[in-house]
Amino acid sequence: MSTHAIHIAIVGAAGRMGTQLLEEAAKLDALKVSAAIVAPQSEHVGQPLGPQGLIATSDLDAITDVDVIIDFSSPAACVQVAEHAAGAGIAMVSGTTGLSAEQHQALVVASGSIPLILAANFSVGVNLLEHLVELASRGFGGDADIEIFEAHHRRKVDAPSGTALMLGHAAARGRDWNLEEVATWAREGHTGPRPDDAIGFQVLRGADIVGEHTVYLCAAGERLELTHRATDRAIFARGALRAARWLAGKPAGRYQMRDLLFGDA
Ligand code: NAD
Repeated sequence: MSTHAIHIAIVGAAGRMGTQLLEEAAKLDALKVSAAIVAPQSEHVGQPLGPQGLIATSDLDAITDVDVIIDFSSPAACVQVAEHAAGAGIAMVSGTTGLSAEQHQALVVASGSIPLILAANFSVGVNLLEHLVELASRGFGGDADIEIFEAHHRRKVDAPSGTALMLGHAAARGRDWNLEEVATWAREGHTGPRPDDAIGFQVLRGADIVGEHTVYLCAAGERLELTHRATDRAIFARGALRAARWLAGKPAGRYQMRDLLFGDA
């Protein structure tokens, strides 16, 4: 075990997740937050943030002598950060969701030169759920209609959630389907009967819901519901910090939470 504290920079440090990350990191001796990066237009630029009282900056060049960058910001910022991290040879953990295919590809390119974890959900429970969903989908086979429900707070800007998509991919893998070919993103009006080869998504937005996901496997005469409820977003922050510690010093490449949790890298 290393005695050297892992130095991290947090991008999106003034956001909901950034705030949690600063608080959770302050509880860990093994981690030291060296830079807090906020958006250029943020009122927090030049102000102290978190229990560490770090002076927030929007300048990515302020990230020096850092082992890992943790990013919970926006898709556009996430790509900028990945390019910066790749250029500087710094490992990156990103939880940002809602990336387009091109933005996602930019992160894949970055992972050619740095170790990178991109996870739509850093909770242990959701990563276990992903496995259970694939298993259940494969077990029911063609006997079950699969539908995915997710609920989040009213300020979430992307839908369905990155986690719902991750669970959709797991369900699709269980049927040897490609999610893009079978996803039903919305239903309205005269939709006709439900096709067999479909995975439906339903989305709720309200108040302060941290995050709920249920995968329904509806067979004739029985229904399996696999649910995860997050009640505290500290779980995501703790998972991302654990990922940062695990990732520091790894060879370049794209890693997943399941590599960390189940060791099947
Ligand atoms: P938020 O809106 O509260 O915070 C995002 C912050 O990023 C804001 O403060 C914003 O000003 C900042 N930002 C935007 N551009 C920036 C830039 N160029 N440089 C630095 N900062 C910049 O949102 P949030 O709830 O904290 O979520 C952030 C992201 O993380 C979202 O994509 C969300 O879906 C995702 N998320 C992922 C997980 C997970 O476990 N993977 C959990 C929760 C949220």
